[in-house]
Amino acid sequence: MKLEHRSVEVIVVGAGIGGLAAAKTYLELSPLTNLIILEKRPTIGGVWSEENCYEGLKTNNLGGTYEFTDFPWVKNTGSKKINISLVPCYIPI
Ligand SMILES: Cc1cc2nc3c(=O)[nH]c(=O)nc-3n(C[C@H](O)[C@H](O)[C@H](O)COP(=O)(O)OP(=O)(O)OC[C@H]3O[C@@H](n4cnc5c(N)ncnc54)[C@H](O)[C@@H]3O)c2cc1C
Repeated sequence: MKLEHRSVEVIVVGAGIGGLAAAKTYLELSPLTNLIILEKRPTIGGVWSEENCYEGLKTNNLGGTYEFTDFPWVKNTGSKKINISLVPCYIPI
């Protein structure tokens, strides 16, 4: 991998749901911040990344738990548990 020299103001380590939410929130509050997310894996989503998914996997959460208010799920899952196969499709980048 080619190393790149670049100045940033904020570094978020990890592109799991926590890192993505932190970066999104930071940029909402400070849109001009030069922010970078570092992720060691080839895909985003952390525990919920595409590479960890398998047929039938579900989260232990009700619909809406991992939903940004300004980026709603395509299908309203109501009170049903989220089918995990939807999560990598949902994570906004
Ligand atoms: C088997 C299992 C089942 C779970 N089930 C549920 C559930 O049903 N419901 C629920 O709410 N929670 C569940 N969890 C908890 C889960 O940890 C959270 O849902 C959520 O994924 C945590 O997000 P996170 O961003 O904090 O961490 P993670 O999803 O773990 O993401 C961290 C990211 O940081 C990256 N990273 C770490 N170190 C570095 C580094 N040094 N440099 C670059 N990148 C780095 C990792 O590669 C990863 O992508 C479960 C966890 C596990 C392990």
